[in-house]
Amino acid sequence: MKTINIAIDGPSGAGKSSISRAVAADLGFIHVDTGAMYRAVGLYAIRHDCLSPEKLAPVVEDIAIDLKFIGGAQRVLLDGEDVSDHIRTPEVSMAASVVSAIPEVRAHLLDLQKKMAAENNILMDGRDIGSVILPHADLKIFLTASAEERASRRYLELREKPDCPPYEEILKDIQQRDYNDTHREIAPLRQAEDAVLVDTSNMGFHEVVDHIKALIQEKLD
Ligand code: C5P
Repeated sequence: MKTINIAIDGPSGAGKSSISRAVAADLGFIHVDTGAMYRAVGLYAIRHDCLSPEKLAPVVEDIAIDLKFIGGAQRVLLDGEDVSDHIRTPEVSMAASVVSAIPEVRAHLLDLQKKMAAENNILMDGRDIGSVILPHADLKIFLTASAEERASRRYLELREKPDCPPYEEILKDIQQRDYNDTHREIAPLRQAEDAVLVDTSNMGFHEVVDHIKALIQEKLD
């Protein structure tokens, strides 16, 4: 059976996951958040004190990352343990950014991601989906917004929390992750030539969801 594959790439904080989740739910597709897989490997590296290529590369094949879908929502399993609620800390974000530059880590996750796309109608989001994982995707979208806009959205999300960092720190963190993602040697973040650019700097959440659904419908008709 030919499956439908939609690739959504873009920088940190562009809203890829929440937008992809909403679009996938409306269209009855599975949403695969590949960032969560890198985060799970980052958590493993923190827990086992192997956050360097020399220490992580030799053991990467033994790290079992699995995805489970409960009511359409993705859960990430690390060696059988559901770690979905443990991978959203700033410490794990930075670890994910470090491990994602290690070629052996990318190779390990690539097979899993390609297999899921071959077996399901999916909307997969990440950094290299249109350029490396699904070069023949039915539709590729590059979802972005200015770094300032992404930082201010994140600040608004966090500001009720007691340990909310100042806006400037959030902005610096986003800029650092943008730099890491676009400058790494392997699978750097870039817009695939045939991807549709969606800049959400001046768009609301529902507006973006509707726009992407319309792009998909147009492609599938
Ligand atoms: O998207 P999210 O912030 O959860 O991704 C966590 C980290 O994983 C990012 O810093 C990014 O560098 C990395 N990543 C990647 N390739 C992907 C998805 C995420 O390198 N396809």
